[in-house]
Amino acid sequence: QFDEMVYMDKLTMVSEMAASFAHEIRNPITTVRGFVQLLQKDAGNSQLEQFAPLILEELDRANKIITDYLKLAKPADFRLQPIDLSEVLRDCVDLLRPLGAFANVSIEWENIEKCYVWGDEQYLKQSFLNIIKNAIEAIDNGSGSVFITTQSLMQQKTVKVVIEDNGKGMTEEELKKIGLPYYTTKSKGTGLGSMISNRLIREMGGTVHYMSHPGKGTRVEITLPLMK
Ligand code: ADP
Ligand code: MG
Repeated sequence: QFDEMVYMDKLTMVSEMAASFAHEIRNPITTVRGFVQLLQKDAGNSQLEQFAPLILEELDRANKIITDYLKLAKPADFRLQPIDLSEVLRDCVDLLRPLGAFANVSIEWENIEKCYVWGDEQYLKQSFLNIIKNAIEAIDNGSGSVFITTQSLMQQKTVKVVIEDNGKGMTEEELKKIGLPYYTTKSKGTGLGSMISNRLIREMGGTVHYMSHPGKGTRVEITLPLMK
């Protein structure tokens, strides 16, 4: 029997997925563009050997997202396993360094401890890429820094990841809107990155908390349950 409510819910879900799907593809493509631009600058192409595996990895990732989407049946196709958070963060930073370099943003890496969380590697990566990318994009006045640290809170059995930038920051009003679908202040933004990050981290049992001051910068705290 045809159930209109269920049908409409599915329709909404599919269109939302189509939008986030397009968005998810953007990050890997941005990364590839960054590396290619770097290679262009380097006349001898001596960095090609170093970056080629990363380029391939990113293309594979874009491909995986398309494949997963076309399967569609299970939108939340989590594969939870013990993941070393420091490795995920390192990968994200490596991938975003070219983007940072072009924006004159240094990505500072402090005190990242090896620690294991129950997570889906792809989704964790996607979440952090979105948040770190926003931090880089918040620096629009020439140059700045993004700081990344982790802090294990053994008592609470959680780990806190802090991603801080000294970019343009947000007002109270703007802070309330972050994570709402399609909320963006960027001319080429989709307003989906934060929503996706928040949702994925919540599905892994974590939380995302934003603190911000206009003109000073933004601090994002992501808390995830430790494996032990
Ligand atoms: P998009 O990046 O496509 O605009 P997001 O959902 O990732 O979409 O972010 C939504 C909005 O939240 C951004 O357009 C920006 O205004 C704001 N925002 C997110 N992160 C930061 C940050 N670190 N500093 C300042 N503003 C931010
Ligand atoms: Mg974004």
